[in-house]
This record gives sequence, C-alpha cells and structure tokens, in this order.
Amino acid sequence: MTNSNPKSQDTRNQDAPTSDARPSTNFLHDLIAEDVRTRKYGDALIQTRFPPEPNGYLHIGHAKAICIDFGLADEFGGKTNLRFDDTNPEKEEQEYVDSIQEDVRWLGFQWERLCYASDYFPQLYEWALQLVRAGKAYVDDLSADEIRLHRGTLTEPGKDSPYRNRSIEENLDLFVRMKNGEFPDGSRVLRAKIDMASPNLNMRDPVMYRILHATHHRTGDDWCIYPMYDYAHGQSDSLECVTHSMCTLEFTDHQPLYRWYIEQLGIFPSQQIEFDRLNITYTLLSKRKLLQLVSEKRVSAWDDPRMPTLSGLRRRGFTPEAIRAFVAAAGVSRTNGVVDFEMLEHFQRDDLNRRASRAMAVLHPLKLVIDNYPEGEQEFVEVANNPEDASAGTRQVPFSREIYIEQDDFREVPPPKYYRLSPGKEVRLRNAYFITAQEVVKDAAGNIVEVHCTYDPASRGGNSPDGRKVKSTMHWVSAAHAISAEIRLYDKLFLKPDPTDVEGGRDVLDNLNPNSFEILTSARLEPSLANARVGDRFQFERVGYFCVDTGSAAGNLVFNRTLPLKDSWAKIEKRSGI
Ligand code: ATP
Ligand code: MG
Repeated sequence: MTNSNPKSQDTRNQDAPTSDARPSTNFLHDLIAEDVRTRKYGDALIQTRFPPEPNGYLHIGHAKAICIDFGLADEFGGKTNLRFDDTNPEKEEQEYVDSIQEDVRWLGFQWERLCYASDYFPQLYEWALQLVRAGKAYVDDLSADEIRLHRGTLTEPGKDSPYRNRSIEENLDLFVRMKNGEFPDGSRVLRAKIDMASPNLNMRDPVMYRILHATHHRTGDDWCIYPMYDYAHGQSDSLECVTHSMCTLEFTDHQPLYRWYIEQLGIFPSQQIEFDRLNITYTLLSKRKLLQLVSEKRVSAWDDPRMPTLSGLRRRGFTPEAIRAFVAAAGVSRTNGVVDFEMLEHFQRDDLNRRASRAMAVLHPLKLVIDNYPEGEQEFVEVANNPEDASAGTRQVPFSREIYIEQDDFREVPPPKYYRLSPGKEVRLRNAYFITAQEVVKDAAGNIVEVHCTYDPASRGGNSPDGRKVKSTMHWVSAAHAISAEIRLYDKLFLKPDPTDVEGGRDVLDNLNPNSFEILTSARLEPSLANARVGDRFQFERVGYFCVDTGSAAGNLVFNRTLPLKDSWAKIEKRSGI
C-alpha cells in the first residue's frame, strides 16, 4: 500500500528546506493552526523538538520526524530544539551524538538549542522527590519479573505491590539512598502511584526510576539511578516549553501518562501528538536491527551505501533535497502504512536528472577498432554536461581509433529486436560518429576480444549526413585516454518487501539479499572524471547515477552506484494510472 500520490507534489523548487515544507493541510498542521488561532499558548512561540536517542545512526524514518518537527515549527514562525534523549547509558555513545548532528544539518535543518535529557537529571530528581512527598510515588522492592506479573493484562486488573503503601518518610529515605548508590542494580525502583486497575497498562504504577551503576557518556558516574523514557520525556518537553511534541503512533497509549506527570507537577503544559511511522518496502527502519547488521558485520559500517541510514544514503549519492521531497510526498496520517522503495528512487532520479553532470563510463568494456580512422590521430568532440540544464555548459571528450563500448552493446549473432551493434549494422557513437561493425576477433577460447568497424567521417557530432537513420546510440570511451576506477554496484539489502516477515526460528537477517553488493574493477571512464571529488554526483550515460565514494582518492577512484537509470516507479505509476 502506498499512502499518497507523489505526483500531487511539486518537487521542482527545492533550494531551501522551507520551500518543500509548503503550507500543508495535514492534521498536524491543522492542529497547530487551531492552537495559534485560539492563542492556547498566549504569546509563546510554537516550539517543537526532535528527540533522538543517541543509540545509533539516524535512518530515513527519522528524516520524516525531522521534516515534521522542523518543517511545522518553521511554517508557524516557531523554533525547534535538537534534544538527545540520553537516559539509557548502556546503549548510548558520543559517536552517535556526533553523527546525529551531522545528519540533521546535512538534511538542511538548524536547531535552535542543543539539549540533552541528561542535563535535566537534577531537576527530574527534584520533581521525583516532590511526587514522593505528595504521596504520588513509592519505592518498590519487587523484581522486574514480579512487577510484570503484578501488572495484570488487558482483561485483568493489576495487583498492588506489597510495598505500595509505604510511608512517605520511608519512601523518601529509600529513594535518597537509591540515588546515593546504597543498593545494587535492579533491587528497587521508584514507581508512580496511579491506578493498578486502569484499563491503560501504562497507568498501572509505571516505573519512574531504575538503579543502574553505569557510566553515562556525558554525566559519567554522577548518577546510579536513571529515569525511564515516560518520566523523562514529557518533563524535558516542558522544561523547553515545547508546545507540540510530535512522536510516532506507538506512543499513543503513553499519552495519558505524559499528561499525568505534567499535571501532577503543575509545569508547562506541553502536548503530545502522534503521527504514523515511515515504513518502506525492502527496508528495515529500526536502530536496534541496523546496529545488529553493523555489529555482525553484515554491512561494512553504519554508512554502508546499502544502509537506510542518512549517512549510508549520503554515501550512496542520495541528496537531502530528494529525501525531503520524498518524505513530503509520503505524507502524514494517523495510521501506519508502507511506502514503496521505488517511490524513494523515483524522487532521487528526478532530482539527479536535473542536477547531475553527465559523463561516459563503460562498465564492462569491449574493445572496438575503427579500421578507417587514421592511426595515431585523435580529436575532441563537444558534449553537453547536462542536457536538462544548458547553464551546465559543455566539455571536450577525446576520440580516437580504438574505443571501448559495453559488452552488452554488441552481439555477434543479434537476437530478434536487438538494435545495437552487430556485424553489418550501423549505430551512432554518442556525439561522435556513425560506425558499422565489420568483423570480430576472438581468442583461442572463442571469446570476442575486439570488434573491427568502419566509421563515416561525414557523420561527425553523431549527425546523419544524408538523413539515413540508425536505431541505436551508444556511449563509448577512447581507449588511449580512458581512466580506471572501481565501480561499486548496490542492490536491495533485503529480499522481501517486508524484511520482518520471518518464519518461526528464523531471523530478520536471514532475509538479507546475498547479492546486494558487487565490485567491478575493469571499468573504463572518460578522462574528465579524473578530477571528480568525494561526493560528486554523475549520470553515467545509459548506465545510471553514480557518486564518488568517501574512500576514493586521486588515482584510486571509487564510484558508488546511487541508482540504475531504469525507473520502475514510473512504470508502476503508469500501470496504476496515478
Ligand atoms: P528506532 O526504533 O529506529 O530506534 P526510535 O523511535 O526508537 O526508532 P528515536 O531515536 O527514539 O528512535 O526517535 C527519535 C524520533 O524519531 C522520535 O520522535 C520517533 O518517533 C521518530 N521516528 C523514529 N523512527 C521513525 C519512523 N520510521 N518514521 C517516523 N518517525 C520516526
Ligand atoms: Mg527510541
């Protein structure tokens, strides 16, 4: 299921992030507009936050949340904080904090304030004491398993813990001693005293604090009790005067608890609003699972070009403009859906088609000798850098007697409807000449090593001298001038549209595509590409979109294939008439 029509979006104007965050009519926008109209927050600015946990690299699902958080605040003249939700010291690292900042900036957004939930640990602790003193929180000595058993089910109410009615004095004493490090991990927790019979399981005396003697990436060993997500998140929002705290649908059942803490503490009334998670076919969007791919070395790193992380997509050659346009087109709703991976590819091709410089590269070379072209001579043909953009100018490409074409562009015995080169057939070499294949030279094993041709000097520039037509135009590279590069081809990382579709006993990683990565080492490229810099993007004519890999160096060029040219999304669109 696709939950929106990419054609309904104008993706042409993408100079700045705000230009594709055009006034929308989605429910989040409407809700904020209503709060502005009724002056729900008086003169306060609309304030949002993007709250990643620094336990992995951001993926394209996060791009949706980022575009929503930053985009909506911007539409209403408000501000957005980047807040690290760093309350799980065992899983969090500075490396993730750094990469997240880099990725948010790369996507085109700048936060107002950089915040950390860990900065609020002292305040959160004070507020917890306040709830204990008010008789609204207690220290529980039950184990995690016992707490789970006492919680009940959707159909049965929970059971009170035997420690639920401890005196305020005892709770205060125990909680302070928890904080002071007197008890081992897991021996006690602080729980909110709400309602063990609530139909909402989250309201059955949720845990607020746990004991954990772990070193935190920012606060070191200052704390040995850590707040749970639900206790930390709303209060952090409140401290930052967040007006609209947007999160994904799985937090819907947590909303009553979010409100309960804020009401009990009488603090700034931030409000939580939920929207659908982005899901994409053939793609896994979970930091936990992506971490598994990295740590089990199923991919080279978080920024492996097959990863759906923003750093992986960047290294693969995807652009922030295309990702933003894709996310905008995927839309927001109140039910989770799945978007076709081809839709993301479609937006990326659309963007690169407009912007990427063209170049000629032969991935699987076959040598072609033009017998009637003077030996030792060379010339330069003029080629447009981007036919979609006249301002991109032209370049001079060398041509000579021996050139390379793709092996697939020649067949000694052409199958039906094969219009490319074969003995006796005439084709056009792009921007150069018409050529006719004459004979084939083979090695002892019968493999074709050279094709001999003749050319028509009157067809210079690839123009027909007398109106005669050819059915095929092919890219080529002059053999004497060609440069080498390593070419890396990528395919889908998973074989199934839903990678989590696994049978009993099997793991998501069993759905990995064993052929998602291929290296070509014999490619021959036009010499202008010797100047390509890391991150530069090209359309190799008739082949696909490529970008220079981060590990590439002069004399040791590496290109990643961003996408092949074929646009299967266009076909899907055509077939389904959208
Ligand atoms: P993951 O399961 O991948 O770790 P998460 O929700 O735990 O995701 P956080 O770092 O807590 O990751 O997420 C930061 C924000 O990004 C949250 O507001 C979350 O709702 C949002 N987010 C995460 N994944 C998606 C997604 N697939 N689509 C939209 N928003 C997402
Ligand atoms: Mg999370």
